Amino acid sequence: MHCWFCSVRDTDEAHALHLEMYGDVDAKKTSSETKIAYNVRHVDVPRCADCHSRHVIAFYALILAGIMALALVAAVLVAMFTDLPSWVWGLWAGLAAGLLLGALAIRFLILKGINSIHQARTQFPDIVELLDKCYRFGRRPKGPIPESDQPCDQQDTPGPDSNSPS
Ligand SMILES: [Zn+2]
Repeated sequence: MHCWFCSVRDTDEAHALHLEMYGDVDAKKTSSETKIAYNVRHVDVPRCADCHSRHVIAFYALILAGIMALALVAAVLVAMFTDLPSWVWGLWAGLAAGLLLGALAIRFLILKGINSIHQARTQFPDIVELLDKCYRFGRRPKGPIPESDQPCDQQDTPGPDSNSPS
């Protein structure tokens, strides 16, 4: 079996992408308590060791990019609201911008030619099937108690009238 992400190398059991999805949520309210029933499905997307390490690097590159974006914003705030000499925040902003672009470039290059995890979460056939059944990512319903999945039916029928940008 080939890795789903690169379609080139053989899949490696130990490096598959494990995702959990829950759905078929059914909340039954009684006077004293709410019982929630739902199903959890495990999806394994076949992946090779190489794609796994690329995904790890891409993940950290994204985190670095996020931190640098914050540092850039901080440099702008410092420039506007403090009396620090301009070379301080200038250097700061330059470094942050450089590392931000570098991290994004690394992410772009490392994911070039292979599918991203985001693509797996939206395009892997088993997942698409579950998404159509209103399954969501995660192990259990989070936050406010979800309603039953009834109102979710609209997702199943993306008819020709859905004005999706193409
Ligand atoms: Zn691969």
